[in-house]
Amino acid sequence: MAKTTTVEEARQTIEQDFKKGYDLPVYVYKPWCKSCEICVAFCPKQVLEMGEDRKPAVARPQDCIMCGQCQLRCPDLAIFVCKERKK
Ligand code: SF4
Ligand code: SF4
Repeated sequence: MAKTTTVEEARQTIEQDFKKGYDLPVYVYKPWCKSCEICVAFCPKQVLEMGEDRKPAVARPQDCIMCGQCQLRCPDLAIFVCKERKK
């Protein structure tokens, strides 16, 4: 059985990624993503694409309008809009 990822583990991983300089407008926490593609379908700007790993990739970050639809529609809380974005 796959190991369950706790909220605390997720928080630590995301925090580390941001410390390393993650600067895309949205973040996907892949262990929680079940590859349903809802976020890809609802993005009004076609920012997201499914990657080879069957997880959404931020393919066109420059087109993101930070509308939050991906975050709102994800059934697993696996994707979120980053509040602060580096210039
Ligand atoms: S915030 Fe809006 S525009 Fe940006 S990736 Fe999500 S759905 Fe697409
Ligand atoms: S909506 Fe959530 S679970 Fe579905 S593909 Fe997107 S990030 Fe993964």
